[in-house]
Amino acid sequence: MSNLVSAKEMLNKARDGKYAVGQFNINNLEWTKAILLTAEELRSPVILGVSEGAGKYMCGYKTVVGMVNGMMEELKITVPVALHLDHGSFEGAKACINAGFSSIMFDGSHYPIEENIAKTTALVNACDVLGISLEAEVGSIGGEEDGVVGMGECADPNECKQIADLGVTMLAAGIGNIHGKYPANWAGLSFETLAAVKEKVGDMPLVLHGGTGIPEDMIKKAISLGVAKINVNTECQLSFAAATRTYIEAGKDQQGKGFDPRKLLAPGFEAIKATVKEKMELFGSVGKAD
Ligand SMILES: [Zn+2]
Repeated sequence: MSNLVSAKEMLNKARDGKYAVGQFNINNLEWTKAILLTAEELRSPVILGVSEGAGKYMCGYKTVVGMVNGMMEELKITVPVALHLDHGSFEGAKACINAGFSSIMFDGSHYPIEENIAKTTALVNACDVLGISLEAEVGSIGGEEDGVVGMGECADPNECKQIADLGVTMLAAGIGNIHGKYPANWAGLSFETLAAVKEKVGDMPLVLHGGTGIPEDMIKKAISLGVAKINVNTECQLSFAAATRTYIEAGKDQQGKGFDPRKLLAPGFEAIKATVKEKMELFGSVGKAD
């Protein structure tokens, strides 16, 4: 049994309501549990992101689907949850469709636009039949993600329209955003590009990748200009690592049964919950599940 939903309805509602749904990437059981419980507590819709590397780490897409479906049932999660492939290859997208994901990102941004269009079209058809939402990307996002390095270019609004017109659910357009930590000399988001893309693609919900470290006022402005989905990955990793470090440096793993993984991983788990809560409040998705 699966209670996963496509991201389409939650993102259309977010676009109309001028807020954004967070995509939080998962790496293991603790990550998934922390994100699902926080979404449920805050009555927020949520998207669980899985990169191909994280999928491999978690022993394959079928394992991920089984874990998420089982957890949703056991934890009695009732808010809308989409399980989404992040930056998928064409082959990865097909594998996730078969494994039971409810949402797919095909990242064809590194192909010439003609090839991006051809591959995206094939996936639009496959996803339509199964009611799976599909995210496409134009203009690569800066930084490094699973070995894929982009320069943080700004998308061509005309190319965005070409891809949007294929019938994808949502569109990620590069607007100077970067994966991972932002460098000190970062120029900021290009709202000029975002407005030009929005003008061309009309109602299509837009996706902002690299949500870690973008100043709050820029996040809010991006939402006001049509961004309905914001991806957060690095920030949960940083807060998990910091909380775990504090626990170990305080020697707590050497006190009593502090070495028990259920105790050792608890501060990191709580730190992820706090980060997810902070982001859901910033994005405005709290209370929007109902
Ligand atoms: Zn991304």
